[in-house]
Amino acid sequence: MNGLNPFAKNVTSSPAETYIRRIIRQWADNVVIPMRRQYDEDWEDHRFIEPAFKILLVDLGFQKALIPAEFGGWSMGLSDSLATSSAWMFEEVTRADSGMGVAFGVCYWPFVMIGVKPHVNRRLCAEFAPMFINTDKPTFGAVAMTEPQGGSDIENLDLLGGRTIKTTATLDGDKWVINGHKLWPTNTGGVADLLGVVCTTKPGSDDEKDLAFIYVPADTPGVTQGRPYEKAGMAADKNSDIWFEDVRVPSWYRAHGPGLDALYFREVLTLGMMSAAFSIGPMMNVYEILYDFCSKKTLNGRPLKEHDAIAAELSEIVTGIEVSRAATYRLAAILDRPDLYGPRWSPEVLAKARLTKMFVADRCLNDCERAMEILGTYGADRQWDIEKHWRDIKMGQLYEGGKQLAQMDTARYFFDCKTL
Ligand SMILES: Cc1cc2nc3c(=O)[nH]c(=O)nc-3n(C[C@H](O)[C@H](O)[C@H](O)COP(=O)(O)OP(=O)(O)OC[C@H]3O[C@@H](n4cnc5c(N)ncnc54)[C@H](O)[C@@H]3O)c2cc1C
Repeated sequence: MNGLNPFAKNVTSSPAETYIRRIIRQWADNVVIPMRRQYDEDWEDHRFIEPAFKILLVDLGFQKALIPAEFGGWSMGLSDSLATSSAWMFEEVTRADSGMGVAFGVCYWPFVMIGVKPHVNRRLCAEFAPMFINTDKPTFGAVAMTEPQGGSDIENLDLLGGRTIKTTATLDGDKWVINGHKLWPTNTGGVADLLGVVCTTKPGSDDEKDLAFIYVPADTPGVTQGRPYEKAGMAADKNSDIWFEDVRVPSWYRAHGPGLDALYFREVLTLGMMSAAFSIGPMMNVYEILYDFCSKKTLNGRPLKEHDAIAAELSEIVTGIEVSRAATYRLAAILDRPDLYGPRWSPEVLAKARLTKMFVADRCLNDCERAMEILGTYGADRQWDIEKHWRDIKMGQLYEGGKQLAQMDTARYFFDCKTL
């Protein structure tokens, strides 16, 4: 072993990866894991959660990751390994706490539109980078897509072209005026500092040119973030309603303009599917817990792992982790090599991203349930943290359009379906 666990060893791991993994792992083992059992009760106040974010995002600097170096960041969005690096960072953070991983990943998700090659918007990077760089407080981005009438429809661009979006953006001189109501964005509930808002410039239109992705600093007059939802898990990720009432922002806060906003919004979705790694990190930790439990607990005088029936189940679980990781890193390779696999916004890449995230979340949930069964009643005992990972992985299975949209985008590409 390399001091991590067997699943953190990648054939291709670089010295930089090993080094940064270790940094995140030290933070996870010393700061998060000893406290994480208290996170469920901390869902509203973030008394324990916020100091942990401060260390990760500010002291260790991870909130700068996607911002180009010329604006003070780490230029991850300009590298050829954006998705792969995201995968192993997400694994490490979510091994400790997947809500924290989701909030961390979304912290700079809005920068995908403007900080990733080949479509860097330097003016907007210069405008928003200082919020993340010149600060000693954790700073959070959020991407506001989902609306009360249905989140999947908004992500279902190939069929609906944005027709159901109700949040409107109207040009008034040199300002966009935004009105609407969003639900669920990660890092809301009072947390968000910068919002990327999916709007329509022509309600009811299915012309993708009318989809606009507009940046809104969260302290702009007319923006109201609601109280965080009390969820089954993932307390470190606050989600809430968010209302926009005659919110005025400069016209150049639109990411790229007609047509290109919709195109690159697809890339926000495909890179978002690296959330497959949000299920793998918890399973890496489930493995550690299982190893410990099955080595120490004896049955009929022998460690649990030495019993045929249990060993068979253990092998199923590690098979799930190995294969899910292989699928996730394959997706990362597809996203990192547009020269080989085509642009990140193509129907092919979208289908492969959706099916990977769906497969991995389903398999990890299934394996986490097996782990609970092996622990017997201890599996339901909070002290062992398995039930925590189980609740969190379940939530990860639900977001980003849900199962049916993943299936439709997959069938559409592989079977050339015309009416889905
Ligand atoms: C932890 C968490 C974090 C989240 N973070 C964000 C975020 O950062 N930004 C954001 O905007 N949203 C976020 N969401 C919201 C999430 O992405 C949506 O909940 C999701 O896209 C599904 O949308 P919905 O809940 O409106 O369900 P709906 O779209 O209304 O779907 C309801 C049901 O119908 C199914 N369905 C949908 N379309 C079809 C169809 N055409 N045919 C058959 N069945 C269908 C769905 O699978 C589901 O079972 C988050 C949610 C969670 C739980």
